[in-house]
Formats: sequence, structure tokens, C-alpha cells
Amino acid sequence: MTFEYASAPESTSVVKIKPEYGLFINGKFLPAKGGKVFSTINPATEAHLSKVAFAAPSDVDKAVAAARTAYSKVWSKMPAAERGKYLFRIARILQERAREFAVLETMDNGKPIRETRDTDIPLAAAHFFYHAGWADKLEHAGVGTAPKPHGVVGQIIPWNFPLLMLSWKIAPALATGNTVVLKPAETTPLTALLFAEVCQQAGLPAGVVNIVTGDGSTGAAIVNHPGIDKIAFTGSTDVGKGIARAIAGSKKSATLELGGKGANIVFEDAPIDETVEGIITGIFFNQGHVCCAGSRLLVQENIHDELMAKLKARISKIRVGDPLDKNTDLGAINSSAQLEKIRELTASGVEEGAEQWSPSCNLPSKGFWFPPTVFTGVTQAHKIAREEIFGPVLSVLTFRTPQEAIEKANNTPFGLSAGIWTDKGSRILWTAKHLKAGVIWANTFNKFDPASPFGGYKESGWGREGGRHGLAAYLKGGH
Ligand code: NAP
Ligand code: MG
Repeated sequence: MTFEYASAPESTSVVKIKPEYGLFINGKFLPAKGGKVFSTINPATEAHLSKVAFAAPSDVDKAVAAARTAYSKVWSKMPAAERGKYLFRIARILQERAREFAVLETMDNGKPIRETRDTDIPLAAAHFFYHAGWADKLEHAGVGTAPKPHGVVGQIIPWNFPLLMLSWKIAPALATGNTVVLKPAETTPLTALLFAEVCQQAGLPAGVVNIVTGDGSTGAAIVNHPGIDKIAFTGSTDVGKGIARAIAGSKKSATLELGGKGANIVFEDAPIDETVEGIITGIFFNQGHVCCAGSRLLVQENIHDELMAKLKARISKIRVGDPLDKNTDLGAINSSAQLEKIRELTASGVEEGAEQWSPSCNLPSKGFWFPPTVFTGVTQAHKIAREEIFGPVLSVLTFRTPQEAIEKANNTPFGLSAGIWTDKGSRILWTAKHLKAGVIWANTFNKFDPASPFGGYKESGWGREGGRHGLAAYLKGGH
């Protein structure tokens, strides 16, 4: 006998979406030059949510000028403990308005309410609390006795964790005394604009945080602006490389958090049921729209069949559907463009000879959806083993010896994350030592903490975010 879940939809009444949003410049919402706007939709239903101002280069000019004035006249002169108080205030408001943020994020992004409620928003608040504490202790951050901010920082973030990536960027920048011009992704601007209201509510001095919405051209206008001292970017490796080229030879410093193709390595002595849960978290958390996803599963050959049988049984229980339903595990794909990319890459997996499997699931007729998918029989030469799919698609490879696992895990242009599943502590340490990845989890996956530095090797980026390493990147001489 099976027991079906009754639907448990979260109410949207807590959210008041305005018909139109302006740019947040110098503490006020302003229309873009020429009044240009674009639309943001709910990817689970394709319903229009709001119109958002599209910033032209001259709007970016205004935002950078506001950030410069706020930096030199107010923020850089303010005692550090006072700066910290604003960060504490923002953190508390994020907690107080957590449900509003969680519902809005789910509507604009398509990710399940369970994740926005339990992960995105609490972690965003935690980032502000953590960095608030650092504001008046920077001389102990390991970057000299009197560390200095860069000045005006340009920040560009992706759509997969909109408010959380904003927090990763704005909290350390403000704690270290910088002012910011931030651009959210085109498909997910709404929580950044609600955050702008939080800045007003917290009484943050005008111009310390400026938020400009638009598309890649708005991002490029920030990158190329001569009034910007540092760029902090999270997004694709291709755009990251373009940014590195654009700022080469300039005084601008940069942190780049880019793509990944994380290896999740399962040794024969791994606790199998826990491992299955870890694999699920590794690839299906946030629809697999996670730069550090465990998207390449490396399984020791002698347990492959047993693990796959258990994994497929567990995947068959994943609940795909309405992101606002509290029982939903896997929500909508963020955009039609991303869905197209996932479809193209999975089609290449079939063409190149890997075996595709998905459980039977009823996908909603409206919106952008992709079922949880596993490819077995994947080789290192396959595109689905090399390129980031950024969707709920797992590529499974096998290995026979620990040495072979390391060789396969490191055989990638990326180097962001990895996972190790084994009963032996010594094997965890040996494996971690040989892996070329910035973040390595052992017998767990996708755990985040503001005190822990996050970032990658090779084409996964430059620098670290979080912890003392992340602070250093916002201080002169630190990065
Ligand atoms: P993306 O196309 O690189 O976009 C990221 C941000 O850059 C967006 O705000 C985008 O604006 C903007 N942008 C686009 N072209 C630009 C340009 N020429 N100059 C300046 N800014 C530009 O990446 P995405 O597809 O949205 O995000 C997914 C990627 O991000 C994945 O590869 C993923 O691995 C990576 N990611 C990395 C991390 C990490 O911490 N390492 C975290 C999350 C995601 P529009 O959206 O308006 O086009
Ligand atoms: Mg949207």
C-alpha cells in the first residue's frame, strides 16, 4: 500500500510584487534611462511577475558615482563598529522577513520552497551575521594590521542562488568598508530588489549599496567602468574569461567564481544508504543548478550494480512539481534557455553511447521541467563527463583502484568541488590530499558555511569567498 502526499502549497499572500521596479541608485528607486524595462517570469508557470528597469551604461555611471560618493564621504569614514551595526541590522531584517524572501525567491527562480526556506534565506542571513562580526576586527583577518578596502566594487551574480549569492558578495564587501554596484541575473532580479528595500529599512546610508538590473550588457558596463576598483563575479567560465581579458592591464582586481564538474567518489566500503542520500543531495539539490554539484559520480566497480539499484529506487521517490508545494524536492528549470542547454547535452550523451535513465514522472504542462536523470556507461571522453550540464543530470563512471579514482576525478578543466564516500578516515585524508578541488566533502555533500572559504582551481575561478580568505579578497594586499 502506498500513501500519497496531499498537496501542501505555501501561500503567496506574504509577498507583494510591484507591477514595476526601478534601479536602486543612491538609496532610491529610479527608472532606467529612456524608461527601458524587461519582464521577469515564474519559470514553473511561465506567468509574468513584474517589469524591471533595464540599466543602460549611463545608469551604471550614475550608480558608480553614487557608490564613490558614499565611499569617500560616509562609509570609509564611519567607525568600523558602526558599519558592523548596519550588517547586524540587515541580517536581522532578513530573518524577520524570511518567509517573504523564501516565497519570492521560489516564484522568481523556480526552486522548491523547502530549499529557499531552509537553505537560501537562512544562509543569506548567516552571511550577514558572520561578516557583521568581522567589521571591527579586520586587523585580525591576516591581511596586515591596518587593512584598507578597495573602494567601489562591481559585483555580478548568477540566477541559481539569487539572494544567497548577493549575500556572499555584499556582506564581505560592506564589512571591509567597500561600497558596491551589484547586478543580479536577468531571470531572477526580484529578491535583490526586495533586498534594496531592506537596505532602506535598515537606514543604510544612500549609495553604499546600488543595484542595477539588466542583462549581460549591463554586467559588461560594470566590468569596463573606469570608476570600479574591484570586480567580484560568479557565473559561467566563458563570461569569467571575458572579464579577465577585459580587466587585464587595469588597476582592477577580481575574484571569479565559475563553473565546475565535481567528482563524487564512492569507495567499496562506503555506507551505502547514506551515500545514496549524499548522491541525491549532490546532484538534485537546486535542480542541479549548482556550480559545485556532484555531477560526475565515480563508483568503485565492484559495488556499481548494487549502488545503481538503490540509487534508482531512491530517485523514483523524488517529487518533481510545483515549487511552492512544501513536499516538492525538484522544482522548475530556471529558464527556457537553460532547459535547452540541458536537453542538448543529454542528447549528446545518448548519441555518444551512454545509457540514459529517468523514473516515470508527470511533469507539469506549463513551465520549464526536466526529470531527474542518470547516465550510466559514461566514459571520460563523453561530453556529459566533461561539460557542466547545470541541471538534474548525473553522469556515472567507474574505477577499480583509488589511484584510478584520483586520475579520473582530476581529469577535468575544472576544480571546484569533490566528494569522498568511505568508511576509512585514512582513505578520506589520502584522497582529499590528491584531489585538485577547492572544496572537498567527506561522507556528506553540498554543505555551506559563511566561515568556510569557497572557490576553485583551474577554470573554476580565482580567489575564495567566505571565511578569512573571502575577507582578504575585499582588502588591499589581500588579493
Ligand atoms: P553567466 O551567463 O556567466 O551569467 C552570470 C552573470 O553574469 C549574470 O548576471 C549575467 O547577466 C552576467 N553576464 C552575462 N554576460 C556578461 C558579460 N559579458 N559581462 C559581464 N556580466 C555578464 O552564467 P549563468 O549561466 O547565469 O550562471 C551559471 C554559471 O554560473 C554556471 O557555469 C555555474 O557553474 C556558475 N556558478 C558558479 C558559482 C561559483 O561560486 N563558482 C556559483 C553559482 C554559479 P544576465 O543573467 O543578465 O545575462
Ligand atoms: Mg524569474
